[in-house]
Amino acid sequence: MRGRSDNGAGSASCLDDKDGGDGTRGVVMTMTVSVLVPVAVARAYTYGVPDSMTLEAGDVVAVPLGPRTVLGVVWDGAPDDVPAKKLRDVAEKLDGHIGEKMRRFVDWIADYTLSHRGTVLRMLLRVPEAFGPEKPVPAVRLAGKPPERMTPARKRVLEIAADGLAWNKGALAQAAGAGPSVVEGLVEAGTLERVALPPAPVVDNPDPDYAPPTLSDDQEAAARQLRECVDADAFSVALVEGVTGAGKTEVYFEAVAQALKAGRQVLVLVPEISLTTQFLDRFEARFGTRPGEWHSGITPRTRERTWRGVAKGQVRAVVGARSALFLPFPELGLLVVDEEHDPGYKQEEGVIYSARDMAVVRGMIGGFPVLLSSATPSIESRANAERGRYLHVTLPDRFGASLPDIKAIDMRADPPERGRFLSPVLIEAVKETISGGEQALLFLNRRGYAPLTLCRKCGFRFECPNCSAWLVDHRFRRELQCHHCGHSIRRPEHCPNCDAEDSLVACGPGVERIAEEAADLFPDIRILMLSSDLIGSISDLRQRFDMIERGEVDLVIGTQLVAKGHNFPHLALVGVIDADIGLASADPRAAERTFQLLQQVTGRAGRHKDGGRGLIQTFDPEHPVMKAIISGDREAFYAREMEQRERSGLPPFGRLAAIVVSGRTQAEASGYAKALARVAPRAEGVRVLGPAEAPLAVVRGRHRFRILVKAPRGFDLQAWLRQWIAAAAPARGGLRVSIDVDPVSFL
Ligand code: ADP
Ligand code: ZN
Repeated sequence: MRGRSDNGAGSASCLDDKDGGDGTRGVVMTMTVSVLVPVAVARAYTYGVPDSMTLEAGDVVAVPLGPRTVLGVVWDGAPDDVPAKKLRDVAEKLDGHIGEKMRRFVDWIADYTLSHRGTVLRMLLRVPEAFGPEKPVPAVRLAGKPPERMTPARKRVLEIAADGLAWNKGALAQAAGAGPSVVEGLVEAGTLERVALPPAPVVDNPDPDYAPPTLSDDQEAAARQLRECVDADAFSVALVEGVTGAGKTEVYFEAVAQALKAGRQVLVLVPEISLTTQFLDRFEARFGTRPGEWHSGITPRTRERTWRGVAKGQVRAVVGARSALFLPFPELGLLVVDEEHDPGYKQEEGVIYSARDMAVVRGMIGGFPVLLSSATPSIESRANAERGRYLHVTLPDRFGASLPDIKAIDMRADPPERGRFLSPVLIEAVKETISGGEQALLFLNRRGYAPLTLCRKCGFRFECPNCSAWLVDHRFRRELQCHHCGHSIRRPEHCPNCDAEDSLVACGPGVERIAEEAADLFPDIRILMLSSDLIGSISDLRQRFDMIERGEVDLVIGTQLVAKGHNFPHLALVGVIDADIGLASADPRAAERTFQLLQQVTGRAGRHKDGGRGLIQTFDPEHPVMKAIISGDREAFYAREMEQRERSGLPPFGRLAAIVVSGRTQAEASGYAKALARVAPRAEGVRVLGPAEAPLAVVRGRHRFRILVKAPRGFDLQAWLRQWIAAAAPARGGLRVSIDVDPVSFL
């Protein structure tokens, strides 16, 4: 593994680096420290240390930067010599510390993704409130004489407060059935006094022995292997591969329990927020309490409290999105990446990184095991398991049910009616399922009503003015919207080009259109549509999932939001509307993605009862991906895909990096991209492809060109890329260059 030996080892002479572990410790009286600030720079800056302050590497500080004061972290490495006149002092030492392993992690990611260290650090310092003093909870308690003016509400409050204990203000008002102003009035009258309570822990301690399941023999064998990884207390990676419904969660929970028992903190990553909700309940059922939660949907207050709780070791287990990787766990001892194949783990903006891969790095630096779990592992993880770099833990059978029976519907033989999208075969199956008292799901990975709207008279097509993309018809919101930049317009009555009336037609299906067709076909059933753009909040989403779980809907129509990970006990039939969508793209991972998505979504059927079915509408039932899905022969798919990747030198058999050059005009972007390609260093086995106009040629008004670099497996791609960028003319003006190592998106 790559690492930076120049950091994390020898530290600045001014520092008492208690966790440097390099033998150079000892407090030496000096005046300066290196401080990394969360702005787009690679270097740590040098600051003076006021006499009254002692600092060590990892301390969170406030420092002046230009006219501002910003957060920073005292970093490893000797400070630069800065003339005393120019030197500015650290303004304040804050309540926070970034441990040595976390600092190495920042350095590692910056190095690997060719990002500035400051930009990576910014991901750690997203909760500045967490470094200030902790806000106490405002509370009140009985202190003085009864007020002169007594009301029934005041009386009720005082009866409750008569216990003499400190009460949270809101809780007291609520218990008395009074408004908050009543309590406030009693404080002003001097009857109650204000006191400050330390905040309660953000979550309770999980109990590893709370409700262990009885495992099947296969599950127990798998769990034993995972417990052994935890017991070894060293870096390792295990790929937990089991068919949908095999009980992977139950099994990795055994490793979680083992780590908790050993006094370590645990982090479970999930690829998207919608998956956290069900996870919280399952965790609570197993460990008696909810884990800490970390994603963009939590409130700022919970965010601050969770950050602190993790840093102080009070929060023992966290479930979160990829940003949870940057939480300051002092005792992290197990990291689980659930649905490890999911493209949602790739962050595509700012620091472009794969949270799955960085989780493995985090484990390597931290010296603890990492578990990757999936029913459809990525080719990369599969290859690592086959090479013996990862332990391969498998669960071949479903728990308590058989796998669903999957069949293709050949759309050439059984086409839908004109202007419709459901084949008669699928319609029949839905009727049968629902009249049998079970649920059906129709899946289409496309939001909105129709992907394209055009004028029948003049052929005008609605296109985004900022992107090379059609505007998607969203009927429920009555607008046409761009899925790349969000630009939206109201759907007009007349064609904006030829002014014809009633001439606009929707082309192709989105989930909203399927819902319309289903409502028409099955007027008497309860239909629920799930699409990310129609969900208001996480609790809203949770409510809908609960309705499905409780069997309060007959037919679910959804996008990939429903395809992943969820456990719907009543679901017996899954119909895939357009299985061919993903295969048409030029993306080298198209086959893998389609296989994963189809396997995952059909895997929602029949999880609690035999007889589940999957029906796949396709124009190409002979396609190897369709054949593998229908026959259930996953090994055939992996073997074929692996062989093809190897033959064409694609990951994991070779390395890729994508460079995207964007500019305000096509000429500007294309000119720079060509010049960049010309100065690429020569190296054996390295090929520079392009520049070519990106498939998404314009996004948000910026013209885009792509260069793809293919290199052999063992090649030091980062060093080569750095050499290249150094050789190129700086990107000035409106030009931007982004480097994507191990690209997932090829748009
Ligand atoms: P996977 O993650 O492999 O798709 P899950 O862990 O979600 O599978 O398990 C599928 C269902 O089977 C869940 O409802 C789970 O609670 C149940 N299950 C799995 N193993 C057991 C077990 N040993 N005892 C009881 N229920 C189990
Ligand atoms: Zn747009």
